Amino acid sequence: MSSPELTVLVIEDEAPIRAFLRAFLQSQNYKLIEATTGGEGIGLAASHNPDVILLDLGLPDIDGLEVIKRVREWTNTPIIIISARGKEQDKINGLDAGADDYLIKPFSVGELAARMRVALRHALNVGSKTDESAFQTGEIRVDLAGRQVWVAEQEVHLTPIEFKLMLVMIKHAGKVVTHRQLLKEVWGQAGSDQSHYLRIYIHQLRHKLEPDPARPTYLRTEPGVGYRLVCLE
Ligand code: CA
Repeated sequence: MSSPELTVLVIEDEAPIRAFLRAFLQSQNYKLIEATTGGEGIGLAASHNPDVILLDLGLPDIDGLEVIKRVREWTNTPIIIISARGKEQDKINGLDAGADDYLIKPFSVGELAARMRVALRHALNVGSKTDESAFQTGEIRVDLAGRQVWVAEQEVHLTPIEFKLMLVMIKHAGKVVTHRQLLKEVWGQAGSDQSHYLRIYIHQLRHKLEPDPARPTYLRTEPGVGYRLVCLE
């Protein structure tokens, strides 16, 4: 991406990870600012107004979760959590607190680039007049206003709940959506007793939309966290 200089704030106390991120981000012409503590990160977020924030959760002073809550008091700048594997609950709490996505350490530059593209697209689309009445990913096409869905030019009928679930996934396309977010946005409540409905409806949607429902191309499971609608050209 050689677009106008975009600023990335990295909040991470581990020097090797900062060095890895620095090498990649500078090669992509991002302007980089770095913080090694949560407090410093919050300060730099306020003073530099970055385009994206990459945030480690395990910081020496305050918890990364606290950083998300504080930053979200004044800005919607995309926040991507960079987290150690096996801390599902941390990631879920982070997403529910307002983070946009997460990367699991160790991650590749390819993954990082993909997450940043999605985060920046969402950020740059806010307030612009892009065509929001249609959505397309791969073979799936959705007319949001007309409530119609096609897969490979073949119209597919979705029930009202399936369509609503699809709308929420489209709203967050490319990003992970937690079980709790989906339950809240589709059913209006986030009780754990509703979570089996979610599994059932995702299963149904996959059967209607996926070429191979057992190995989903579009509606991917993020183990222990939620689902992601993959954006394809
Ligand atoms: Ca750390």
